[in-house]
Amino acid sequence: MRKIISLLGKPCAGKGTLLRRFLEGKEDQYICVSFGDALRKEVEKETILGQQAKIYMEAGKLIPDYIIINIALGQIRKAPENMSLILDGFPRTAEQAEAAVEAKMGITHVVNVKISDEEAIARSANRVVCPECGESYTLNEYKKPKKEGICDRCGVKLVRRSDDKPEIIKERLESFNNYTIPAIKRMKDSGVEYLEVVL
Ligand code: AMP
Repeated sequence: MRKIISLLGKPCAGKGTLLRRFLEGKEDQYICVSFGDALRKEVEKETILGQQAKIYMEAGKLIPDYIIINIALGQIRKAPENMSLILDGFPRTAEQAEAAVEAKMGITHVVNVKISDEEAIARSANRVVCPECGESYTLNEYKKPKKEGICDRCGVKLVRRSDDKPEIIKERLESFNNYTIPAIKRMKDSGVEYLEVVL
């Protein structure tokens, strides 16, 4: 059966890591849409959407629902029917969840990667990412790249995410607690299968 999995979690919970582990050997069965990565690419390319998104993202705030809902609808429509889908970072508000249910987007599972606020703040201070593939590494011993400052997979220079600054992480955690928890509740009420994961 075709699965449409919504992957959610606080910043630095490990969504990307879980995704990469889960997809190993299943690349031909799943299409993955990372809303954060897609938006970062738009910002980088300085498109009109990117210019708008940048203002919200750099402040740690969520992008307006109508923009995100249109992206989600477009991605689901264009995915081949025989492929399952992972929506990394959607729905993040009750309005997005409502739209997903109303528009019959077909979300079958919600996976919530759990972490405490304190741990998210600690991890964000230590995180560097690959701007190419999105892989995360740590500055401490926990998950250092083989060659300092360079992505093991792409050979590209690792960077700090501009929204990993302490004051912005607090804003992102507030967004999760205030908006995404109600979104998860709405999805659970709609009857999807719900899983919690701790990494
Ligand atoms: P992420 O990489 O998943 O942490 O997302 C980075 C940023 O992209 C978020 O802090 C938001 O500004 C924006 N974003 C990603 N997904 C959504 C969404 N479903 N709704 C609103 N904003 C989003």
